[in-house]
Amino acid sequence: MSLSDSSSFSTPPPPIVLVFAGTDPTGGAGLQADILTLASLGCHPLSVVTAVTVQDTIGVDDYLPMDPEWIVDQARSVLEDMPVAAIKIGMIGSVEAVAAIAEVVSDYPDIPLVLDPVLSSGRGDPLANEELMAALIDLLLPQTTVLTPNSIEARRLAEEPEDDDEEDEGGEADARDTSDLAVCARHLIDMGCEFVLITGAHEQGAQVVNTLYNTRGVMDAQAWERLPGSYHGSGCTLASALAGFLALGQDVAEAAREAQAYTWQTLKHGYRPGMGQFIPDRMYWVHGDE
Ligand code: PLP
Repeated sequence: MSLSDSSSFSTPPPPIVLVFAGTDPTGGAGLQADILTLASLGCHPLSVVTAVTVQDTIGVDDYLPMDPEWIVDQARSVLEDMPVAAIKIGMIGSVEAVAAIAEVVSDYPDIPLVLDPVLSSGRGDPLANEELMAALIDLLLPQTTVLTPNSIEARRLAEEPEDDDEEDEGGEADARDTSDLAVCARHLIDMGCEFVLITGAHEQGAQVVNTLYNTRGVMDAQAWERLPGSYHGSGCTLASALAGFLALGQDVAEAAREAQAYTWQTLKHGYRPGMGQFIPDRMYWVHGDE
């Protein structure tokens, strides 16, 4: 039997989502989080390694960025083989890798792109520097369908000067008021992405409010009961779930709501396998309440 014969009686594949991310050996964040999330939602994850990290549930000790050519080769091999319904980008690891990924995704402008701007670990270990943030803004933001920063990342990205920012006579770029998250969202959308979903876990308040913005301003705001733990991989779970729901055919507002509901459940069922942070249970529906 030839390979082509076997396809005639195989079931059609689930929606396919391509992920660019760094590995996390704890299984809490990064590529492993994305794969678990997408599998849990019934999607097929394609995984391109952008960096290898050394970490435990307490923090990141080190990381090795992948050679950009290897990133491109991994991605192009699978993109040329399989129909991809959505792309999700997490930790990238180097400026050169940002440029390489930007070039690959520019060949697929019709595939929705979710960009999770991973700037640091939960403990605050830096996973991106100023140069990498500038490259993200210049090369990836204009190709992004939904950007998913937490409020800290939204403020840091919105503070980044643009290439054409006017400098005053003292040589300083005008300071932007980033205390207001709506102002940050406006600015991030002006820099090229279509939608921004800013998560509010780091803001004050009894509830966590996550807000979706488009060019007209606030599109949707969802308030969630604040859970007590500190979680490793919550942002990765949310962004990959969003990519998964887009791949399943939902529009951005619906996919953002479903992704938040799913992520909240994973956090509620989270567990603490080591000595550090809790890990969201992406397979909570398998494990049940017990
Ligand atoms: N990707 C990798 C490889 C990481 O190590 C981390 C954090 O340590 C993240 C992404 C971001 O994780 P979170 O979802 O907790 O923001």
